[in-house]
Order: sequence, then C-alpha cells, then structure tokens
Amino acid sequence: MGKVIAIANQKGGVGKTTTCVNLAASMAATKRKVLVIDLDPQGNATMASGIDKYQVLNTAYELLVDELPFEQVVERETSGGYDLIAGNGDVTAAEIKLMEVFAREVRLRTALSGVRDYYDYIFIDCPPSLNLLTVNAMSAADSVLVPMQCEYFALEGLTALVDTISKLAAVVNPDLKIEGILRTMYDHRNRLSSDVSDQLKSHFGDKVYRTVIPRNVRLAEAPSFGQPAMYYDKSSLGAKAYLALAGEILRREELSADSSETSEQLV
Ligand code: ADP
Ligand code: MG
Repeated sequence: MGKVIAIANQKGGVGKTTTCVNLAASMAATKRKVLVIDLDPQGNATMASGIDKYQVLNTAYELLVDELPFEQVVERETSGGYDLIAGNGDVTAAEIKLMEVFAREVRLRTALSGVRDYYDYIFIDCPPSLNLLTVNAMSAADSVLVPMQCEYFALEGLTALVDTISKLAAVVNPDLKIEGILRTMYDHRNRLSSDVSDQLKSHFGDKVYRTVIPRNVRLAEAPSFGQPAMYYDKSSLGAKAYLALAGEILRREELSADSSETSEQLV
C-alpha cells in the first residue's frame, strides 16, 4: 500500500512546495509510482509541475467537494514524472464549502482509499495554515514531513507545530507519525544555521534528516520553467540534494521494514 506523506509547516516560505515537487520527482525517477496533491490555493506545486493552474479543468475542489471520481481529476505524467491533483484559487472555495459537508475532515482520506494501492508514494503539499484542508491532509496521511529553515525562533515554531499536529492527530488520525524534519535553504557559512541545526538534532534526534537542502538558485528558478530542478538542471546542488533525500527516505523505510521497528508515535 502506498505511503501518504503530508508536507506541512504553518509558516509560509519554508520550502514546502519546493520539497514536495522535487522529492516527488526524485522518487518518480527511482521508478516509484508517485502522486502529488496540491492543497494550497496558490497552486505553486501545480505550476512547478508544468500544469497551468488557470487552465486546468479539475482540481482538489472537484475531488473533495463534488466528489468527482479520482480518474476525472488526476493529471497523468506531469513534467516531474508523477501524477498530480492540481490546486488553484478554487481550493479556497473548497475550504469554505467543506465546512458544510458530512465527514468534512476525512474527505481526502475517502477520496484516496481506492487509489492508495496504485501508488508507492503520495505527497500532499499543504497550505501555510492549519485550516480544514490541512486537517484533511493530516487525516489522510501516514506521516508528516516538516521542512524548516534554521533561523532564529525556528525551534519554538517547530515545537508549537509538533504540539498542534499531535493534538490534531489525537482527534482525526491517532496513527499519524512524524516522517522527518528537513533543513531547507541551508547556508553552511552561517553560524546561526549550524547552532539552530545542533539544537534541532538534540531535540528531535533521528527525526532530523541527515540530508540538508542547500540554498540553491536553481531550485528557485525551476518552477518558472514548469519543471522540478532535476529536469531543469540535473547537475545543480539543489537537484542532487533532493535525490539524496529520496535515497535517505527509501533507506529508512528498508531499515524499519527489516527491524519491523515503527517510527515514533506522535501521541
Ligand atoms: P512554501 O511552500 O513553504 O511557502 P516554497 O517552497 O514555495 O515554500 O519556497 C519559498 C521560496 O523560496 C520560493 O520562491 C522558492 O523557490 C524558494 N526556495 C525554496 N527552497 C529553496 C532553496 N533550497 N534554495 C533557494 N531557494 C529556495
Ligand atoms: Mg507552498
């Protein structure tokens, strides 16, 4: 059964979308079947996958609110080699419409139940807030991957986020785990980054990925060409870092399957 990973952090601009599309493309490049779900009304993951958010016929709105069959909503084989449920401004309307519907917190989980077997990995790009869409992502997911920048107060924000996720999980998805914490836009020359990084490791231990995503201009440029970085410039440090992250995640999975050790429970 495919693994569903929500990429979340209530802060904007920490690298959620960049991580989502580049990790998805890296996993797809290892011949895994991958789906990306763009739950952010900004539709950045959609554009970065080469799909025009203004032209796309169906989005997460149709999947969640209208309950259109998955087949009618999915975009096959985007520029990153993965399938996509697109997002755009309509997803804001979905957040409001969902308030009125039955079982509003588990719409996404229900929508994915029939296709989870088909995919190896499903990555959900969450909006930068803890709204009903994020709640849907958390209830559909097996785990949460948290991208973060190593800056001042980052640890406080992260502790608050993990606390909120735990409370939410207790209500909608008691099995939800933390997949990992990813340091993004990392600058090795910056003293503060390495201090925060050390604190992070002492608080969250193995949950912090060894792979670090460097600040790399190719990662910022690629979306405007509608491509993940590995297709825009495969030799870039950014593209290589996300391939390394995919490798680390796959290795972790093999290790935990071998030792039948499960990741740390959130609650
Ligand atoms: P979020 O989805 O959390 O709001 P984004 O992934 O959109 O964050 O990243 C915010 C901005 O930073 C975007 O312009 C993106 O292109 C840029 N960015 C993200 N990661 C990196 C990186 N490692 N190096 C350079 N720029 C980055
Ligand atoms: Mg984003």
